[in-house]
Amino acid sequence: MFENKNTSKTNISELGEFGLIDHLTKNFKIKHESTIKGIGDDAAVLACNSDEELVVTTDLLIEGVHFDMSYMPLKHLGYKAVVVNLSDVYAMNAEAKQITVSIGVSNRFPVEALEELYEGIHTAAKYYNIDVVGGDTTSSRTGLVISITAIGTVLKGKAVYRDTAKDTDLLVVSGDLGAAYLGLQILEREKKVFEVNPQSQPDLDAYTYLIERQLKPEARKDIPKLLSDLKVMPTAMIDISDGLSSEILHICKQSKVGCNLYEDKIPLDQQVISTCEEFKLDSTTIALSGGEDYELLFTVKMEDFPKIKANPHFSIIGHITDKDEGVNLITRGNEKIPLIARGWSSFDEKTS
Ligand code: ADP
Ligand code: MG
Repeated sequence: MFENKNTSKTNISELGEFGLIDHLTKNFKIKHESTIKGIGDDAAVLACNSDEELVVTTDLLIEGVHFDMSYMPLKHLGYKAVVVNLSDVYAMNAEAKQITVSIGVSNRFPVEALEELYEGIHTAAKYYNIDVVGGDTTSSRTGLVISITAIGTVLKGKAVYRDTAKDTDLLVVSGDLGAAYLGLQILEREKKVFEVNPQSQPDLDAYTYLIERQLKPEARKDIPKLLSDLKVMPTAMIDISDGLSSEILHICKQSKVGCNLYEDKIPLDQQVISTCEEFKLDSTTIALSGGEDYELLFTVKMEDFPKIKANPHFSIIGHITDKDEGVNLITRGNEKIPLIARGWSSFDEKTS
């Protein structure tokens, strides 16, 4: 039935992660009226009842690609696996309700290790008020694989998509950026030190926030509620899993708009600034390309400026323009440079 006529071999890296998804899924047509949003956003949106819509999203974490067991305690891994999924639910302006958890495990893992993993999942489920309603368990030849699907609800018509930003909207981000990536660099460095000298005791006091953002990230459950309390309806929204520039480009490409992002407005924690100085890294590059921040990036109408401007959770980092103006970073020196995506990609040296 499935005769394989295709004998040419194209390397996946030629397409990149998003090119590959587009390539593989371009022929899928929506058949059901209940599919309000299919592939292409943080989560799919499905018709549910007369008041609500359902959102569904799934993520896959693979040992050695997304996590390293030498510095990722299993409890944290379980917690993080839940959080990265919930972040996509909140990015739709929805409330997370249920998850399913599927694992592939090799016999390298004793039951006690999996108990720890599930302790983390349990803690996250409690904190984010979600039910664990199913999953699947299989054996794996080598490492650990975790796939979580999250389900949420949103009032009918209130889901916020990536493709609805409009010219002159303001670009806003929650929290601060770049810390999780630097946390990973610190952990990698300590791992190397430990390999050479197992007696060494790392002094991580200067990096506590960075390491916490890498090992125990939180999803911004509070933001949809906060925006609703402020009576602000975002015009578009996405979560920052792959780095600010990659996510801005998603919003701009899908909304068919341009954008000016102001370098001096990008929110950075003091530990990010000092660690970048120490490591001679450019903090803007880290914020733009680091990834794993799990903050929300959204656009609002210009008239909502007074409701957003003084809120400590938000930074207004730019504004949407006409498509013809392109997607640009306005540097501290007032130079305009086109923004390019250097986010995480599973198919080069980084992870997705
Ligand atoms: P996110 O980073 O928010 O998790 P992704 O970039 O992974 O989103 O995915 C973008 C979109 O492509 C989503 O709608 C996702 O469901 C869809 N997608 C990703 N991989 C596949 C796949 N293998 N088959 C079908 N859809 C996919
Ligand atoms: Mg997302």
